[in-house]
Amino acid sequence: MAAPYRLVSRLAVVSGGGSGIGRAVCQRFASEGASVVVADCNKESAYETLALLSHNHRGQEHMALGVDVSLKDSVETLLNNIQSHYFQPPSVCVSAAGITQDGFLLTMEEKDFDKVIQVNLKGTFLLTQAVSKALVAAGVTKGSIITVGSIVGKVGNVGQINYSASKAGVDGLTRTAAKELSRYGIRCNCVLPGFIATPMTEKVPERVMNKITPFILMGRMGKPAEVADVCAFLASDDSRYITGVSIEVAGGLFIG
Ligand code: NAD
Repeated sequence: MAAPYRLVSRLAVVSGGGSGIGRAVCQRFASEGASVVVADCNKESAYETLALLSHNHRGQEHMALGVDVSLKDSVETLLNNIQSHYFQPPSVCVSAAGITQDGFLLTMEEKDFDKVIQVNLKGTFLLTQAVSKALVAAGVTKGSIITVGSIVGKVGNVGQINYSASKAGVDGLTRTAAKELSRYGIRCNCVLPGFIATPMTEKVPERVMNKITPFILMGRMGKPAEVADVCAFLASDDSRYITGVSIEVAGGLFIG
């Protein structure tokens, strides 16, 4: 059962908010009362998400903005636009923008390795840094930064040498950010999804998914809303004594 009003009067930015997990996070945060900035490199899909967001609480105001999280200037412009619109930095930040560019270690081209690191790892660094700088500068004493790693960053995955490295990096980045930012009241946690049904996993061939499913204790892929539920918990005061952790949302994948 959802706890519906935990994020009233919070301002949240969600990268990758135009699709999949990011979209579900935007919807869940809005339903809990937050004002949500949907940030995505695909502006059209960001606007599609915006149209789905509820406005059940007074003062709630959502917006959609384009950003390429792998570019520092683009991330800085995003933060400037948010602050000039809302007159405050977002106190909740979810880095859900991510890509795959799969290939084997023996054959992967350098450009494919670099691209995935730039979006998944550097993009998470740039957004986390920009939001925390803005919070510290504004003297805000409470914030929640949520990164999206992957179970694959822990256990590896054949054909994802770049992706698994990027997600292991996100995990380490989150722990370090938690250590550095706790003095400012900013908590940093990472969610580690397993296999979640989104446009990203639609690209995984059916024969591969059929091999993976028997290793999921819950016997099925996850839903984006099931990851969003955990993000809402981490964004809310229900998790006020939790920082520097990674939470698997993987239905027991590889644990059996
Ligand atoms: P998705 O492809 O549905 O959504 C990713 C979104 O990120 C898209 O809207 C895309 O436009 C946006 N994006 C990509 N590059 C960007 C950039 N440079 N700047 C801004 N936005 C950018 O994927 P998803 O499955 O919802 O994945 C969301 C996050 O969850 C990703 O970080 C992904 O690695 C992670 N994840 C997904 C799964 C899964 O099974 N789906 C599992 C583990 C982790």
